[in-house]
Amino acid sequence: MSHAAPAVITVDVEDWYHVCGITEVGSRQAHDRVQYATGLLLQLLKNCGVTATFFMLGEVMDRYPDLAPAIVDNGHELASHGWSHQLVTGLGPQRFQEELEQTAALMLAQTGVRPYGFRAPRWSLSRTETPWAFEQLSALGYSYDSSLTPLALIGDPDGPRSPHRIDTAFGPLWELPPLVTPTWFGNLPAGGGWGFRFFPYWLISRTMQQYATAGWPAVLFVHPRELDPQGPRLPLGLLREFVTYGTRSSSADRLNRLMQRFSFTTMGVLVASWQSAS
Ligand SMILES: [Zn+2]
Repeated sequence: MSHAAPAVITVDVEDWYHVCGITEVGSRQAHDRVQYATGLLLQLLKNCGVTATFFMLGEVMDRYPDLAPAIVDNGHELASHGWSHQLVTGLGPQRFQEELEQTAALMLAQTGVRPYGFRAPRWSLSRTETPWAFEQLSALGYSYDSSLTPLALIGDPDGPRSPHRIDTAFGPLWELPPLVTPTWFGNLPAGGGWGFRFFPYWLISRTMQQYATAGWPAVLFVHPRELDPQGPRLPLGLLREFVTYGTRSSSADRLNRLMQRFSFTTMGVLVASWQSAS
């Protein structure tokens, strides 16, 4: 057997109302669930002895100053999810850079660690539309990004499924795409979100095994709200509500099963091993 690559659980630490395109927040803040739901996830990871990569939103760290330190205390890696959860395509280069710096500064102040990885809200980086973003990340000392998904509509369906190096003027940036299941009619979003909750367990498990055998990390992604199925929801209409929140069942059982079966590490640990090998 070839060297089986460990998988990675990534967490986008945001609240139930951080849905792209929704800007008016108002009284929803009174019903914040992110701290509670992140606590459920930390307990689940601890029970399985798994460390994960947490993409932190500046806005959430600002409101809950105990959250990032609790994640670090549990041995996990912190990375950046920007400040405001607006699409990078809409922010433009200057505000993108400001958000990166603001989020990193707050993380450093709260925890003493700075982020080396980034994930854009709703996979909103693109080699053609936001080429400047990769340059900026590299210039600011980031070593990896996980914002390019090989899916139709929200990413590039012809993009690579494996981790790959993006060369910038400031050095290389590693790109780690989320897990997808290839089929003859295109890639399925099996690595997170509604697909992770909806597709049969065997499909996800089998795809993870294929990635491991190929030597690629199977990158899963989860939101705290998916561990909190009784939490509040935005009225988004039937289809979008399903995509965002799914059925009223938790992702916990499925994650738990996968954590028993596969070995996991963090993105930071993987990228450091690639850097020292190259
Ligand atoms: Zn997000």
